[in-house]
Amino acid sequence: MRRTLKYRLYRSKRDKQLVKRIHAGASIWNHCLALQNRYYRRYGKHLGANRLMKHIAKLRKRKVFWQQLGSQAVQDVIQRLDKSWARFFDYVKALKSGKKHRKTGRPRFKKSRFYTSFTLKQNGWKYEGGNKIKIGKHYYKFALSRPVTGTIKTVTIKRDRVGDLWVCFSVIEDIVLPTIPDEDAVIAPIGIDWGLIHTMSFSDGRAPIDAPRFLNKSLRELRRAQRRLSRRRNRNGGKRTRNTEDDRRRVARVQRRIVDQRRDWQFKSAHELCDEFDGIAVEDLSGVWMQRMWGRKSSDIAWSEFLSTLGHVCSKRGVMLKRVDAAYTSKTCSVCGNILDLKLTDRDWKCQCGAYHDRDVNAAINILGRAFPNQRGDAGGLEEIPSGEAVAA
Ligand SMILES: [Zn+2]
Repeated sequence: MRRTLKYRLYRSKRDKQLVKRIHAGASIWNHCLALQNRYYRRYGKHLGANRLMKHIAKLRKRKVFWQQLGSQAVQDVIQRLDKSWARFFDYVKALKSGKKHRKTGRPRFKKSRFYTSFTLKQNGWKYEGGNKIKIGKHYYKFALSRPVTGTIKTVTIKRDRVGDLWVCFSVIEDIVLPTIPDEDAVIAPIGIDWGLIHTMSFSDGRAPIDAPRFLNKSLRELRRAQRRLSRRRNRNGGKRTRNTEDDRRRVARVQRRIVDQRRDWQFKSAHELCDEFDGIAVEDLSGVWMQRMWGRKSSDIAWSEFLSTLGHVCSKRGVMLKRVDAAYTSKTCSVCGNILDLKLTDRDWKCQCGAYHDRDVNAAINILGRAFPNQRGDAGGLEEIPSGEAVAA
C-alpha cells in the first residue's frame, strides 16, 4: 500500500538550502510555462514533457541557480506542469463534447513564495534512520511523530504558509488491508444521520455527538490577526516588509492550528466508530445536501472531509462503510414505513402506528435499514407509547 508520511523539519541554518531549491523549482516552472504558452499560441498545440526536458537540461548547464535542483527534481517539475496542462485539455475536450467537467484553467505562473515544494526520486537524498535525513550535502533532522515504515520511494520537501518546512516520504508498505466482510456477515452495524443541530445522531439511540467547532473557538484570535495584517498592509501600501510577513504568518499559524485540530478530531472519531462497529451506514453527501447545510457552521464541521476520513479509516480497519441516498430518511417512520409531511422544526413526532420518534434517530435508523436491509439493528430510540398524554409530555 502506498502512503505518505509527513514530518516537520527542525529549523536550522541549512533551511535556506532547501528554500533555494524550492525557488529554483519555481523558476523552472515559470520558464517552461512561458515556453509552452508561446508554443501554444503559435501552433495551438502543447509542448510535450520530453522535448522540454531536453531543452531544460541544455539550459541547466549554463544556469547555476537551476543546478541546485537535481535532474530528477527538474523532471518532477516538468511532469507536474504536464499534468496541469493535461487537466486543462481534458476540460477543453469536455467543453467541446458538451460533457460536464469541473472548470479548469491553464497552468499559471507562480511567484516563488507561492511555490511550495520539490520532489526527489532515487537520488539526492539518504535516509539515515531515526529522524535524520541527508538532502544534497546537508543533514536535517525532523520531529519523529511516528516511525518511518515501509520502503521510501520519493522524498518531498514542502513549505507551508507559516514558513515551516516538512519532509514527506512516499512509502510502499507491505500491509495487507483487512478484507471487508460480506454484507450479510456484518453483525454490529450502525446508522448515522448528519445534522446541524447534532453532527451525528445514531440509530441505536445513544447520545448524539457534536463536532467541536474549532474555527468558532479560534475565531476571535483569527479575526484579530487578520485585522492586524490588513491594517499593516494599508499603512504601508501593500508593500511586503518584515512586519507584514510576521503578521501574515500569524494568520497562517492560527489557520493551520484549526485544520490540525479538525483533522485530529476526525481521525479519533472515525477510529472510535470502527472500534465498536463492523458496518457503518451514512447518508451520501450530495450537492443538494451541502446546499441545505451551507454556511460557516457547516464548513467548520467539514462533513465531506470527515466522510473521506471515515472511508479511509474503515478500509484500514476492515469495516464496511455504505453510503445511501438520503431522500425521505427523516420523514419516513422507521417502524411502519409511513411517510409524513414534517417540518424542519419538528424535532420529535408520533406516527399513526403509535411509534414515537426523535427525528434524527429515526433518520439514522432508516439509513441503517437502507444500507443493511437484513440487519436492522435494535431500534433503541423507539418506544411504543400507549396513550396520547405521554406524547405530549
Ligand atoms: Zn409508523
